[in-house]
Amino acid sequence: MLNKFPQGSAIWVGLVPGLTDAGGFIPVLPTYQHPNYSSIYAVGVIVQLQPPEVTPLPVGVPKTGQMTEAMAMAVAHNIAIALGETSAQPVTPTLEAICFADFGDTGILFFADPVLPEPATGQRRRAIALQGAWVGWAKTAFEQYFLAKMRFGVAVPWFERLALRGVGLSLVEPLATSPSTDCLHGTSC
Ligand SMILES: Cc1cc2nc3c(=O)[nH]c(=O)nc-3n(C[C@H](O)[C@H](O)[C@H](O)COP(=O)(O)OP(=O)(O)OC[C@H]3O[C@@H](n4cnc5c(N)ncnc54)[C@H](O)[C@@H]3O)c2cc1C
Repeated sequence: MLNKFPQGSAIWVGLVPGLTDAGGFIPVLPTYQHPNYSSIYAVGVIVQLQPPEVTPLPVGVPKTGQMTEAMAMAVAHNIAIALGETSAQPVTPTLEAICFADFGDTGILFFADPVLPEPATGQRRRAIALQGAWVGWAKTAFEQYFLAKMRFGVAVPWFERLALRGVGLSLVEPLATSPSTDCLHGTSC
């Protein structure tokens, strides 16, 4: 199939048989490896995350920048293990989110820990939403901070790691056991 495309051209992953689901999303194990192609990892909005419930409109699971960042950290770590660069334990993203949603003259800060409720209980450990005009200002300040740290090539500086730990969050967590090939991330198996 891949031979049909000129070398170096970009192709839509949904065209590759067996790589995605019907919606074009890539299924992943807790290591964020494809269940059938262990050298393929996925990160971000293209990752298949099963919605916890069926909704009248098929909106799917919201994916935020912080979740994408956590997935990328986990994948970088797990690729380093696969390449033999480190003997550390594999990790998985925690999929927690602190998000500033800007609505113009007001906004909402939401804190979802984790974004996907625990499959067994249907509950999150914590879910907080705060509204106010200050959310827009905080979002602008965070944007400036985020761009500055990216320019310095620092993904998560020590003080950010400390602040996240202070509110009981971490971007990734160690995987206790070797993930089975039929247990997709975000499912209750
Ligand atoms: C309006 C809006 C507001 C949001 N606000 C927030 C927020 O406040 N907080 C938050 O945490 N998250 C927010 N998000 C979500 C966040 O932006 C996404 O979760 C995150 O950017 C996803 O990262 P990604 O790398 O998966 O995809 P993207 O950031 O979309 O990156 C994909 C990249 O691939 C490139 N690309 C696509 N096709 C090709 C191709 N064929 N060849 C080469 N390159 C290609 C695209 O140009 C793009 O640069 C918001 C999203 C939107 C749309």
